[in-house]
Amino acid sequence: MTGKRILITGVAGFLGSHLSQRLLSDGHDVLCVDNFYTGTKDNIIHLLDNPKFELMRHDITFPLYVEVDEIYNLACPASPIHYQYDPVQTTKTSVHGAINMLGLAKRTKARILQASTSEVYGNPKVHPQPESYLGNVSTTGPRACYDEGKRCAETLFFDYYRQHGLGIRVARIFNTYGPRMQANDGRVVSNFIVQALKGEAITLYGDGQQTRSFCYVDDLIDGLVKLMEAADEVTGPMNLGNPDEFTIAQLAETIVRLTGAASSPVFKPLPTDDPMQRCPDIALAKTKLGWQPTVPLEEGLVKTIEYFQGVL
Ligand code: NAD
Ligand code: UDP
Repeated sequence: MTGKRILITGVAGFLGSHLSQRLLSDGHDVLCVDNFYTGTKDNIIHLLDNPKFELMRHDITFPLYVEVDEIYNLACPASPIHYQYDPVQTTKTSVHGAINMLGLAKRTKARILQASTSEVYGNPKVHPQPESYLGNVSTTGPRACYDEGKRCAETLFFDYYRQHGLGIRVARIFNTYGPRMQANDGRVVSNFIVQALKGEAITLYGDGQQTRSFCYVDDLIDGLVKLMEAADEVTGPMNLGNPDEFTIAQLAETIVRLTGAASSPVFKPLPTDDPMQRCPDIALAKTKLGWQPTVPLEEGLVKTIEYFQGVL
């Protein structure tokens, strides 16, 4: 399985930077594209001297002509503040980007994996969420550019699979955290750690009783690679995430305790359409990939706090 030419889109982002490192250490040639919308060269600077690593500035809403064996399509802003900043571009990245990358996969006969999201379930009425749950998503709200863009991308993947026989993989990624999130990323784990390390108030949106299930990045990357390498018939969609569920208030308390911060919470309005609970049912990933997360929340938070202590 070594020696493949693998394309990663969105390489300079949080997950892309970890995935590129993993695929290089597995012995592959890694060709990477990013338009640096939310990603930064700092995330991949340690890879630039590696002769098996190649970086191109490219926006996936435009066609790309390269020769590859596999494609991981990760390009898309993932933090609500970032994907809502230019919602039309977010939809274009998900939809035009998927069409361009699927066209590339069709021409090169490459296997292609889509980084989809738990947001396809919206504000779920089924808990925990299995892949068979069809979701409860607003088509018109401020999160729709991301949620509906990702849902349309899934549709395109399955249409290319049925119409053109493409080798597709659709991963529904649940909240993932770890080193190389941006300090100004806006997502909850990086926000709370940065606030705690700076001794600032911890911004709890709503009453903090909404839940999320947090997966450490190494576990998630392992799941993505296992999904890509699984047998032909394993297309997904497949949930990848950690089923340990916490309220946002519990997350805040844990981060304050682990950092030894003097920070106290300040309550801010709950953003529109913010899902009230989220937890993956990962039975399918366990059965088909033999995968489940191994890093408990506190262990992953300690590593992430160490990272932010280094960069702040
Ligand atoms: P990120 O914002 O850190 O990284 C996204 C990367 O994509 C950035 O480097 C950005 O510059 C690049 N990008 C954005 N638009 C682009 C375009 N049009 N062309 C080329 N590059 C573009 O986000 P992340 O957390 O690394 O997420 C990666 C992928 O995983 C995204 O598709 C996201 O939707 C998905 N995902 C992530 C999570 C999570 O918790 N991290 C959860 C669910 C889904
Ligand atoms: N959140 C919060 N304070 C923050 C950032 C986020 O309370 O400073 C909450 C947010 O309202 C949501 C949860 O934390 O309920 C996760 O938010 P995030 O933006 O990380 O990801 P989401 O799962 O909503 O896409």
